[in-house]
Amino acid sequence: MKLIFEKSKPGRRGSSLPKPSVPVVDRIPAHLRRNQPAELPELSEQEVIRHFINLSRKNMGVDTNFYPLGSCTMKYNPKFHERLAALPGFAELHPLLPQLRHGGQLTQGALAVVYEAQSILAELLGFAECTMQPLAGAHGELTGAMLIAAYHRSRGDAKRKIMLIPDAAHGTNPASAAVAGFRCEVVRSDADGNVDLEDLRAKLNDEVAGLMLTCPNTLGLFDPNVKTICELVHAAGALAYCDGANFNAIIGRLRPGDLGFDVMHVNLHKTFATPHGGGGPGSGPVGVAEKLVPFLPVSRVAKRADGTYSLEYTFPESIGYIAPFYGNFGVILKAYAYMLTLGREGFRRVSAHAVLNANYVRARLAGAYRQKYDRPCMHECVFSASGQAEKGVHALDIAKGLIDRGFHPPTMYFPLIVPEALMIEPTETESKETLDAFVDAMLELAELAETHPEKLHQAPVTTPVGRLDETAAARKPRLSEPVAEK
Ligand SMILES: *Cc1c(COP(=O)(O)O)cnc(C)c1O
Repeated sequence: MKLIFEKSKPGRRGSSLPKPSVPVVDRIPAHLRRNQPAELPELSEQEVIRHFINLSRKNMGVDTNFYPLGSCTMKYNPKFHERLAALPGFAELHPLLPQLRHGGQLTQGALAVVYEAQSILAELLGFAECTMQPLAGAHGELTGAMLIAAYHRSRGDAKRKIMLIPDAAHGTNPASAAVAGFRCEVVRSDADGNVDLEDLRAKLNDEVAGLMLTCPNTLGLFDPNVKTICELVHAAGALAYCDGANFNAIIGRLRPGDLGFDVMHVNLHKTFATPHGGGGPGSGPVGVAEKLVPFLPVSRVAKRADGTYSLEYTFPESIGYIAPFYGNFGVILKAYAYMLTLGREGFRRVSAHAVLNANYVRARLAGAYRQKYDRPCMHECVFSASGQAEKGVHALDIAKGLIDRGFHPPTMYFPLIVPEALMIEPTETESKETLDAFVDAMLELAELAETHPEKLHQAPVTTPVGRLDETAAARKPRLSEPVAEK
């Protein structure tokens, strides 16, 4: 496939405007103007359209293929919610429109959406209040870590500088805690994939500010000791943070606030209907227990006694601004529409199907791939290709083989505590036929690993580009075409 620059023909145009009949006034100062025209490709409109349409058709996405990318719920999201978010009354709102005075009716609808969404979310999570401001899961973690810091600071408890993080955690947890000024210490997992309570007890002391626990965890397991863990953390004077990226496993059934957590983020773009990938947009609202409410970021959306909505700023203990304006409004709006579409019973079906689908895949693949923790899973199941690796076939080879069979690979080599990990999250939106086709492909690959391991080292062979040097692509990226000498 040629680059668009290689297709360029000098003088070719996508559109041509008539010569102006009035004098041209260029207000850009001479020293800021280009000396030479920008070296843009020159093509007709049709050539541009074909170029990009053909490029898009080489893409794998949730609209074209099954996408079992664990942890990041790459589920199918109804297009209806995209259409609602595109309604001009929402999409074209300017963030600086007045809230109430001088025609504030223009923003009342948007404020109502944020307020209602945060209220429903607080109920689902079991917390006193939510902020919808954070722009991603990791940003929610940072906000939560800052709230924990503000809480200890407000009590004059200055020596709590440590954040405890289990070894199964997503990499964003230690990164967020570090950005918030904490020193991270690792808590080990035990032989069943739960938090090792002895290790936790040993690491809790009066310098610990909090524990960040993913629930259910990144192994797709529900830690039966969650309540005890929160109690131990509280007894040491620290706070319990819940990473809620896997919330679709328990939504409508269990409220993390009821388990004893003090603060939690969810990823609207994972659990609440925004396709993600390609870097955004996301939204990572944070729910908090009563004791953290005073520290929530500004602005906060409030409902007045007369039924109108306002943005409120005067909270002296607030951690301040963490996002411009009010978060990723389009994502919040889609999540709100999704909440209303599903309702209480709908959410219970989401978690039921997410868990059922993952356990179905787990049961069907159990004979072919090893499991480090052999127990029923939540919304995702983690296998190890360590058996295949003995034949020279690694998790990477299995993943590439899946691409040839029309499937996006699952997450590989994560969580770090499972060697040759393949983390499969089917999501609640896939049919049995799709899951069976995927499982059949996985079984065929396991068979190939036994009989013809060398065949898997070439995969993928059906894609426009085959196997790449991924290290070089990350470490020595070539980001532009060499410019031809004139
Ligand atoms: C995705 C994920 C995050 C980070 O969320 P982003 O929205 O990608 O920043 C954190 N923890 C877990 C367990 C996740 O799956």
